[in-house]
Amino acid sequence: MTDMQATVDKIFILDGGVAEVEDGSIYSPGINVGVPMTLSCNAYLIRHRGGWLLWDTGTQDDLVTEPEGRIVAHGIRGVVRNTVASQLREIGVTPDEVGTIAISHAHFDHVGNCRLFRNARWIAQKAEYDAMFGPRPEDFGYLPELYATMRQNAVELVEGDHDVFGDGAVRLIFTPGHTLGHSSLLVRLPESGPVLLSGDVAHNRENFRLRRVPVFNADHEATIASMEKVDALLRSDKATLWVNHDTGQSETLPHAPKWIA
Ligand SMILES: [Zn+2]
Repeated sequence: MTDMQATVDKIFILDGGVAEVEDGSIYSPGINVGVPMTLSCNAYLIRHRGGWLLWDTGTQDDLVTEPEGRIVAHGIRGVVRNTVASQLREIGVTPDEVGTIAISHAHFDHVGNCRLFRNARWIAQKAEYDAMFGPRPEDFGYLPELYATMRQNAVELVEGDHDVFGDGAVRLIFTPGHTLGHSSLLVRLPESGPVLLSGDVAHNRENFRLRRVPVFNADHEATIASMEKVDALLRSDKATLWVNHDTGQSETLPHAPKWIA
């Protein structure tokens, strides 16, 4: 029997850099044409019964040495001012203490620091894993050198939704479309209640509400279906949606070393 009231202890939002695009309409065809946009990139460190789970890993720390950042993929510039490694140090957690890792998908702003976490058991969506380590990851805009070390992590392949710890506190929600094996994460916080970490099911709240599908998504119809799935979950579980790349929302949430319970 799963105890659906189980919660995690707290969550730290880590600053994983920003992504700068020259034309915001890549996320909303026909809308914001030629309008530059800056997207927050977050990683999320979750404390659960004495262990640590990391959801996404941000943009690669070594970009901190390049003040202007660098165009990494899809014409998107990654800029890092505050490394994930330094934020972990400030919290007092070493990368080796992170026991579990999961990623929404394998774009550079989500897997940039995967190589830091060699001890973590990786809960991987099989469709994403297959794309990452298949014959042509670059066809999906992936940069295998960012996550190559993950092949040596202990891997638990899952297909579809998955209860990460078996107690209902954290659930991987399969939300394909942006990529073939894309996932979101439902986290139950003791005081704030359930929070749904979007991954890139949408890139901001408006695009989510209006069901706008980015031009480079792997599957348009699946993206819409995943947004509907997330919307239904927000209602049924009375969950709050935290959109990773929504800069306006991200600025309202405390980041590490502060935490949210
Ligand atoms: Zn992203």
